[in-house]
Amino acid sequence: MDDLFKKITGHCKEYGFVYQSSEIYDGLAATYDYGVYGSLLKNNIKEYWWKSMVQMHENIVGIDAAIFMHPKTWKASGHVDAFNDPMIDNKDSKKRYRADQLIEGAMEKIEAKIIKDVEKARKRFGDAFDENEFRSTNGRILDRQKNIDENLKRMNNALRNEDMDDLKAQIEELGIACPESGSKNWTEVRQFNLMFSTQLGAVAGDDGKIYLRPETAQGIFVNFLNVQKTSRQKIPFGIAQIGKAFRNEIVARQFIFRMREFEQMEMQFFVKPGTQKEWYEKWKETRIKWHKALHPDSSLRFHDHDNLAHYADAAVDIEFQFPFGFRELEGIHSRTDFDLSSHQDLSGKKLQYFDPEEKENYVPYVVETSIGCDRMFLAVMSHAYTEETVPDAKGNDSERVVLKFHPALAPIKCAVLPLLKNKEELTDKAREVFNKLKMHVNCYYEEKDNIGKRYRRQDAIGTPYCVTIDFDTLEDNTVTLRDRDTMEQTRISVDEVVEIVKKKCDMTQLFA
Ligand code: ATP
Repeated sequence: MDDLFKKITGHCKEYGFVYQSSEIYDGLAATYDYGVYGSLLKNNIKEYWWKSMVQMHENIVGIDAAIFMHPKTWKASGHVDAFNDPMIDNKDSKKRYRADQLIEGAMEKIEAKIIKDVEKARKRFGDAFDENEFRSTNGRILDRQKNIDENLKRMNNALRNEDMDDLKAQIEELGIACPESGSKNWTEVRQFNLMFSTQLGAVAGDDGKIYLRPETAQGIFVNFLNVQKTSRQKIPFGIAQIGKAFRNEIVARQFIFRMREFEQMEMQFFVKPGTQKEWYEKWKETRIKWHKALHPDSSLRFHDHDNLAHYADAAVDIEFQFPFGFRELEGIHSRTDFDLSSHQDLSGKKLQYFDPEEKENYVPYVVETSIGCDRMFLAVMSHAYTEETVPDAKGNDSERVVLKFHPALAPIKCAVLPLLKNKEELTDKAREVFNKLKMHVNCYYEEKDNIGKRYRRQDAIGTPYCVTIDFDTLEDNTVTLRDRDTMEQTRISVDEVVEIVKKKCDMTQLFA
């Protein structure tokens, strides 16, 4: 799987999807730039989210709030005091780690041993093998599972109680060594605040200190009444936003999975107090459907939070099976009235809703859906990346790398290719088709190299359709339409090209 992940990151760079930021200066850790095709793909992901959340819901409206906010925002939200991760340094390698991730890593190693035992038994017993029974009766597996459960429980308690000493004790008891130096020479565990700060204007010192927002949600909360009044929405209703967020992650690794500057797509749904549980279930169901329109059930799962954040009364992650395992892709949180009430208290301004049916004022409860756009990009990329052996033009086996994006998300929808580059009658006709098509979809015109090579280049950037203009086109006004996945070629009329490509790449297929 490591190998697959390396191939995907390599492909992203080679084909203009994602580059390391400031690469000529050896890059800036955990910061990435999206290239020609990457930015198109990312925009399509955002469009899919925005349309399905805002356009398809009469009771959800969108905003675009500033990244800088009044510093009191982050006091009220709890981020100044509690947006911390526990960090620990290895004194020999000078490398910094998240204490909880070191413990989780040790548990993953035990889990890997369990999986190995299960696979061995599966081979030994053949068809008669019952995995559930084996896991619940085999002594060695039961001991290992108990070990994992107890350690995770202890870690979660320590995190909840901010007991840094116990996290350190656990790391020592488990005999965890630094992956870099192999030594167990650790510092104490300390809390580390993840917010980036900067100075506003010419004011020096703490008076001018402001933060880069660590989540987009607060821009929605502080605007709650502005938006509700101007959009004349009645509860229940939602406010959506897509925008940058910044976190000074202690360990930023795994490519665009964990970045220090990233983009979130968040929606806060305001509901009557007491109805939050019902809405939480509804949003869980709605959001998993959104993912399933793109990805198979087996690559997705829910994971309930063991440790609830200070603002939540229920929380679940939608996890996706990345090449390095199941990890959080989206969070759904029942945030109670924590944020609105805190802002109300600290600002002294009422953030209440007058319910015309109940004839009373109240602070609404909130159910949030929050997904990282970059993590979604990585999920889409990991699912699309395929290596295949296919027949070439002469019928011999050849290897191809193809990105099997859903056509609605593909950066380029159609490539227009004249069969030969030096035949003006072909290139003129191809230009004519291209000029018509470009008014409707992102398309690509290319003359260079033989047609087989050009098809492969389009496969590698995930273009779902190629249209080839050949000598028959000049006779009967037809072209070949080549399908990326099946590689089938069909003859269609030039007059149909726009409509067929538009229909095949239409995003409404995903909403259905
Ligand atoms: P994690 O546990 O992985 O640090 P989180 O629980 O802190 O994530 P949330 O605060 O719930 O994340 O943020 C919502 C979403 O934002 C996440 O589901 C994820 O998709 C995205 N996200 C959070 N942190 C990052 C990051 N450093 N880089 C990229 N995306 C991120």
